[in-house]
Amino acid sequence: SGQLVDISHSEDPLQAYERVVQRAGEWLDMERDALQSILEEMDDDLREAGALFNIELADFNLVDGLLDQAKEALMVRNLQTIQHVTDLQDNQNKLESTTRELEEQSRRDSLTGLYNRAHLDEMTVREFELARNNTWPITVIFVDLDHFKSINDTYGHQVGDDVLKAVSRILQENTRDGDVVARFGGEEFIILLPGGGLVSARAVTSRILNALRTTPLRLSPAKTGVVTASLGVAVHGDKMNFSSCDDLIRAADSAVYAAKHKGRNCVVEYDGVMDVTGESSPLAATD
Ligand code: GH3
Ligand code: MG
Ligand code: MG
Repeated sequence: SGQLVDISHSEDPLQAYERVVQRAGEWLDMERDALQSILEEMDDDLREAGALFNIELADFNLVDGLLDQAKEALMVRNLQTIQHVTDLQDNQNKLESTTRELEEQSRRDSLTGLYNRAHLDEMTVREFELARNNTWPITVIFVDLDHFKSINDTYGHQVGDDVLKAVSRILQENTRDGDVVARFGGEEFIILLPGGGLVSARAVTSRILNALRTTPLRLSPAKTGVVTASLGVAVHGDKMNFSSCDDLIRAADSAVYAAKHKGRNCVVEYDGVMDVTGESSPLAATD
């Protein structure tokens, strides 16, 4: 009751009221709503008692006004809290989408926008395991641009970069959404075809070779030209099985080596005769 009396004497009744709310919580384990309804009841009872005994309770309607003010303050505070929670939710959504963007960025090669080597490694392991467990095929197509060094040497590094970007677009345009197109390093690319065997591999490689042969690239203000590539293909789960994804990639790499030997601008399919350590022997070649 002392605390309650303080309210009517305080310079800031609202603050004094808040103190009472706090004390009621600490001392009586009483919630704000419970205290409020007790005060309202008290207010009514005192008015009744006052009327009964003919006592003027001029000052006591302070409680009435105060409760209204307190309710209003509480409502404002609730609205502020709701706004605060909404802001926090917005912030969290922004952070989540930034994290997703950063994750996606960290998987990409900055020059070409293709997947980078790190992500390729992760995908190769995952997809090879899936192919093995589900006995579906998986293909690795290794793409190495022909005489790329001479493009840099003749037209400059910037033109070389532009050619790499254009080739990357061509690779992406000629593969499907589920395929993984990555920059393996320098002027070398790898395309993974999860679930794709020899038939898919042949369709993709012939589309790529055709697109490269027929797409003029700007080499200087006055000159356009085409770039060609040597492609090596290794298929797991069709005619052949590999014991690891590293062996599969090595096989595709050795097929590229064979394609270079064969005269470039062509595809060689790994046929099991080539040594996956890099030594090559008689080859099956397709164009
Ligand atoms: P080959 O037909 O035997 O594959 O010959 P090549 O010239 O393509 O192969 P080589 O390995 O001799 O040269 C690859 C060149 O690729 C050398 C290197 O400067 C260039 N290169 C690697 N990365 C980049 C890059 O990010 N930008 C540019 N412009 N050039 C690059
Ligand atoms: Mg190379
Ligand atoms: Mg090359």
